[in-house]
Amino acid sequence: MDVPGFFSATYAEARTRFLECCMKRDIRVENHLNERAKGADGEDLYMDVARIGPQEASRLLVISSGTHGGEGFCGSGIQVGLLETEAFQNLPADTAVLLIHAINPYGFSHIRRVNEDNIDLNRNFLDFTDGVPDNPAYHEVHEWLLPDDWDGPARAKADAAIQHYIEDKGLKTFQAAVTGGQHIHADGLFFGGFGPSWSNKTLRGVIAKHAKNARHLAFIDLHTGLGPYGHGEIIYVGDPEGLPRATEWYGDDVTSPEAGTSASAIVRGTIDAGIAESAPNASLTAIAIEYGTIPVLEVLNALRADNWLYIKGDVESTQGKAIKQQMRDAFYCDADDWKEMVWTRGVELINKAIAGVRRAE
Ligand SMILES: [Zn+2]
Repeated sequence: MDVPGFFSATYAEARTRFLECCMKRDIRVENHLNERAKGADGEDLYMDVARIGPQEASRLLVISSGTHGGEGFCGSGIQVGLLETEAFQNLPADTAVLLIHAINPYGFSHIRRVNEDNIDLNRNFLDFTDGVPDNPAYHEVHEWLLPDDWDGPARAKADAAIQHYIEDKGLKTFQAAVTGGQHIHADGLFFGGFGPSWSNKTLRGVIAKHAKNARHLAFIDLHTGLGPYGHGEIIYVGDPEGLPRATEWYGDDVTSPEAGTSASAIVRGTIDAGIAESAPNASLTAIAIEYGTIPVLEVLNALRADNWLYIKGDVESTQGKAIKQQMRDAFYCDADDWKEMVWTRGVELINKAIAGVRRAE
């Protein structure tokens, strides 16, 4: 099996592979065009949805990629591999699978974690009628995250301040301040938005339609950028009452940000909320698989550089190209051993999800 061959070098290539795999096997695909933006090469941007199994199935497994844009190199590779190996040929009765390719196609194409409005989708699934949560810790670090220059004195001063903050309060506190999500600075990091994004609204429509008959829903969202190289951490997300079920399905190494056992900080407005609200008649067991790439501080630095680039820099410059490479390396390890690791773990957990959703009561 040519596992590294499942993975693509660009969003456009990944999308073509996904569509071709579906076409070859007569799997119907819905294409949702994002009219708000274009890709890095001017291409159209789509969230593509493939369904395998009966429409009336009461058990549904949803596997999604590219919630965080450039993390889609990994997730799309796994989805293409599942199609290539015909992993869902012998689904149990009354069970269907939904593959959602590129929830955030803009970020995938431009190798950004955010969408076309600088929004982190995994902070965007809030009820905005209630106002937005505050994150006072973020205010303290925002200015350092977005210095006026990237190679000059402002950056050096900001770096020193961050270094001091980490020495004083610890890396975990810094990570939580930066990554917890904020709804104040639209030019900042981990910005959750002022309202529901295109991806949010589109995804809700997709789930409402496809989970209409579902009583049990398993959701796996594929991510990269946290944890040890190639390791796939199983992060439980959502209503605490589902955690024992997730542990029963996937094993004792399921982690939870709320319990402090995850590489992820506690975040609000995550995507599982939109899934739950769009499938109110189904029990939901939602996880993120978080595959490790490089150390967390280097990942945060890449995100900081990328944010600076789009707010204050020039993407087409030599510096811009270097930052884009830094982003790619932070969220995608283009190495055969890494691809083998993420694929093997992905298949293991997807098989557990099918077995779990099948026996759910
Ligand atoms: Zn992610």
